[in-house]
Amino acid sequence: MKYFAGIDVGSTAIKVAVVNEDGQISGVHVTPSGSLFHKNSTDALHALLNKLSLQRDDIHYLIATGYGRKLFKEADDSISEITANAIGAFETGKALGGVRTIINIGGQDSKAIQIDSNGHVVNFAMNDKCAAGTGRFLDVAARNLELDLEALGDMHFQADVAPLTINSTCTVFAESEIIGLLAKGHGKAEIIAGIHYSIASRTVRLAKRVGIEDRVYFDGGPALNKGLVAALQDELGRELVIPEHPQTTTAFGAAILARNEFFAEQSLEPA
Ligand code: ADP
Repeated sequence: MKYFAGIDVGSTAIKVAVVNEDGQISGVHVTPSGSLFHKNSTDALHALLNKLSLQRDDIHYLIATGYGRKLFKEADDSISEITANAIGAFETGKALGGVRTIINIGGQDSKAIQIDSNGHVVNFAMNDKCAAGTGRFLDVAARNLELDLEALGDMHFQADVAPLTINSTCTVFAESEIIGLLAKGHGKAEIIAGIHYSIASRTVRLAKRVGIEDRVYFDGGPALNKGLVAALQDELGRELVIPEHPQTTTAFGAAILARNEFFAEQSLEPA
């Protein structure tokens, strides 16, 4: 059996996905990016290979994507995260009823991508200038509120008053605003719900720039946060399609493309 890998060297987390020659996912691995992007990417790849009892030579083609993709020079090819995300979401979305709009929130940026019925990108918009609508905002908020990042999702539903309005348009100012709200005696849950709604309304504005069509797929690490999912569904006024592994869709897309490029180069049809 031949295997193919995608490695998404993100601003916050490195994601690796391996697929077999049928394009089925064999495994995924997620690890913090840290400051040593190349070393941590190599370690992440080997950690997944070990988990799957595979050798490096079993990987016949590897494609790097993401913010730090150029640093992973041993990849056979590299592609933009927009393309990789679109392929990953299109393939994953097939079993979930199909998707045409993708919303991705990452560690330091957010994106909205519109794809056609064949999975090709027709339009996209990206916010990489302001961290207030991204995972970074959630990381900072969790630290200020002395909570684990994973706890934010459940806390969202514990607010017994309406979510607070967070006005700051920048993470640094939002940090002061959160501290100010705590000092006024507001509860953590209402602050968290306010943060989720603030990210959700920014994200909807971004998605409206590309046009929201049909079923909307939500991925990236923050899609693991059920409170944010609920706020985004509320702001969008529709249900979101959330994959089982939302953080690794882009790495999966790169792995699928690696498989397809390998067979195209060999002019071979996969078995
Ligand atoms: P990037 O590709 O830019 O590195 P990711 O898609 O990996 O970004 O998302 C990273 C963000 O995901 C983090 O900043 C964090 O806010 C969020 N995140 C990661 N794991 C979880 C989790 N278990 N629950 C909630 N949020 C999470």
